Amino acid sequence: MSSRQTKPFKACLRCKALVRPDETKCPVCGSTEFTFEWSGIVVVVDPEKSRVAKFLGIKKPGRYALKVGY
Ligand SMILES: [Zn+2]
Repeated sequence: MSSRQTKPFKACLRCKALVRPDETKCPVCGSTEFTFEWSGIVVVVDPEKSRVAKFLGIKKPGRYALKVGY
């Protein structure tokens, strides 16, 4: 089952930030490479206090994919 077309966001390949499909540049790291093959959403409000953010290497607040790729 593919959910490729139904996802409201695409994930940045470099930092895993989730952005809208019509965005061409990642607002977090500036990368232009994205994928719709991601799963899980992590909302980081305070990267300093979030264990998940530390684990994923997230330094800016925002919405991120837990897993990118297959
Ligand atoms: Zn990025």
